Amino acid sequence: MSTNVASTAHRRERSIDSSPTVRTVAPARGPPRPRIATPTSRTPARCAGAYYAAPVAEPFPSLLIRADALVPQGAFAEAQAEYLHPDPAAVGALTEALRAHDVGVVAHFYMDPQLQGVLSASDWPHIHISDSLVMADKAVAMVRAGARVIVVLGVDFMSENVRAVLDAAGHADVPVYRVASDPIGCSLAESAEAPAYAAYLRRAAGTPKSLHVVYINTSLLTKARAHHVVPTITCTSSNVVQTILQAAAQVPGIHVWFGPDTYMGHNLVELFEGLAAMGDAAVHEVHPDHDAASLRSLLGRFHAFEQGVCVVHHMFGARVAERVRSELPDAFVTAHLEVPGEMFTLAVEAQRRGRGTVGSTSNILGFIARKVADAVEAGRPARLPFVLGTEAGMITAIVRKTQALLRERGTSVEAEIIFPVAAEAIAATGDELLAVVPGVAAGEGCSVEGGCATCPFMKMNSLDALMDLLASIGRDDPRALDPFRSRQYLDVIDGRTVADLGGEPIVHMRGLSTTGRVPEQLVQDILRRSVGHRRATTP
Ligand code: SF4
Repeated sequence: MSTNVASTAHRRERSIDSSPTVRTVAPARGPPRPRIATPTSRTPARCAGAYYAAPVAEPFPSLLIRADALVPQGAFAEAQAEYLHPDPAAVGALTEALRAHDVGVVAHFYMDPQLQGVLSASDWPHIHISDSLVMADKAVAMVRAGARVIVVLGVDFMSENVRAVLDAAGHADVPVYRVASDPIGCSLAESAEAPAYAAYLRRAAGTPKSLHVVYINTSLLTKARAHHVVPTITCTSSNVVQTILQAAAQVPGIHVWFGPDTYMGHNLVELFEGLAAMGDAAVHEVHPDHDAASLRSLLGRFHAFEQGVCVVHHMFGARVAERVRSELPDAFVTAHLEVPGEMFTLAVEAQRRGRGTVGSTSNILGFIARKVADAVEAGRPARLPFVLGTEAGMITAIVRKTQALLRERGTSVEAEIIFPVAAEAIAATGDELLAVVPGVAAGEGCSVEGGCATCPFMKMNSLDALMDLLASIGRDDPRALDPFRSRQYLDVIDGRTVADLGGEPIVHMRGLSTTGRVPEQLVQDILRRSVGHRRATTP
């Protein structure tokens, strides 16, 4: 498939391949454009006080993936690409340290690119990088295959999730560590701990046949408190659509309360409305028990929380979407379900034309791989541009998969991954967390105008921090490692520990993904609490 590459043809290209040589193969960028400081009301609290310089004229940074080379274009992309060929000494040291104590590592796709590069190059069998749903399953598999310790590279709700799933699988004796002694937070998870969310759940509890569908990016405590108030099932961006539709198919008249991610909630409404407008056949394809009428009826009983925002996806705003639309009309557009409306709408439109996808990180990875495979199959030279509407850390997984495909077939097809962030945006916040955003150091990345494609919380997981933790295992007094342990939540709510109660919505999700049906225990819980509600409200 041939595509328009004019938008990137003038870029400076620096090639990084397996040799240490760096070659310049195209002219340098044009003169710098004037900067305008433009903070807006969309600035998240964590960015408050930042200085923003937001030019708009430079092309988006990108990474060109060829079978035999990677060509980053723009400093942001160079920073991402630099780590794809890690230092062999670092790879060897990590492998040795993991082997010494039979440590398994489960990491999220959004990890720092340096760390992902080293992890991906290691031949230690107990390393896995994926989305949050798969991380816990892989931890269980690693323990069954001999790992005696699990290290989670992600934010705290991920290590809690791994802890809960390991406990449920009978491996409570296996320690689960994080790489920081301080909390590794998440703006989205924190928004579900606010009083507004408790009020939202009270409304749900006061409505018959309510099911709370809680996004996995929340703490175990949030899940426990919520499940105590209203029947709750966990979801991820990979399974949220099926979870909602399946619940609506099994419990007629159900009210679905989704949270805390506001963008994802709105995007689900847009997705369902668009699907219903496409007619019964289109709806059937997504879920065989639904048609356009049942989807419209469900929309009247679907509720989204209005105050839950991920600081990363918040930044993919209207102006970035506008630039993508006007500057990259022929690019494939991918968007995570959490990204704000404008970017999401763009990706939905692209998806309808077969030129984009909306969904989870895994969906995005699969889409890119499919398009590249199609181009390889067609047997013609082509450069496929993909706009990456999610966290930039995914680039490592995309490069591994795409390059393996291209190498296997010895093809001249190229994939260009475009990061929709401003080329020269600067955010000097003085905030300890934001200071770790690689884009800042590169002069690109986090800004209101240009987007922010790196998560400051995820970036607390560094290679140095991992190596320090591994050095402590087996050497220090085990109690010295306590601050690094995943939180266990032994407090009790209504006779059950938070870990047990908060783990139940996760177990329900796992039941749904295994059988394709909402577990009967949860269905009965919804109906039973509904009867209780009728009794309480009948005079
Ligand atoms: S990208 Fe960062 S802030 Fe956003 S949901 Fe993930 S961990 Fe939280």
